[in-house]
Amino acid sequence: MSSILKSLKLYSIFFCKCPRCHKGDLFTVKNPYKLKTLDVMPKRCPVCNADFVREAGFYYGAMMMSHALTTIIAVIVHFTVFYFWGWEIAPHLIFLLSIIIGLFPVNFRIARAIWINLFVSYDPKISKDANH
Ligand SMILES: [Zn+2]
Repeated sequence: MSSILKSLKLYSIFFCKCPRCHKGDLFTVKNPYKLKTLDVMPKRCPVCNADFVREAGFYYGAMMMSHALTTIIAVIVHFTVFYFWGWEIAPHLIFLLSIIIGLFPVNFRIARAIWINLFVSYDPKISKDANH
C-alpha cells in the first residue's frame, strides 16, 4: 500500500492501527467478531509505545462516535429499504436490526479508533523509525 494512503487518518481508523505510527494494532485480537476479546487493547502501542489508554474512562467518548456511526448506517439502510419497499414497517425493522446488530463489533472498534484519532496525530518520523 502506498505511503500516502497509510499516512491518512482514515487508514488508522479503518484498519484499527495506532494513530501515531499507523503500524501497531489498536486491538490485541484482530477479528472483531471474537466477542470475548472485542474491547481488549494493549495499554501502549507495541511498535512506537504510544499511550492507548490516555486517562481513566478515555473511551467513554467513543460511545458518541458509535452513536453517530449507527445513525449514519440507519439513515443509509432506511433510504435503501424505502427505495425497494416504500413505507412497509417489517422490512425496515428486519434490515435495521440485523444490520446494526451485525455490524456492532465493527462499529464499536471503529468508534474507538475515531476517538483516539481525534487526540493523537500521525507522526511520519516515528513511523519511519519503527522497523516493522
Ligand atoms: Zn504506534
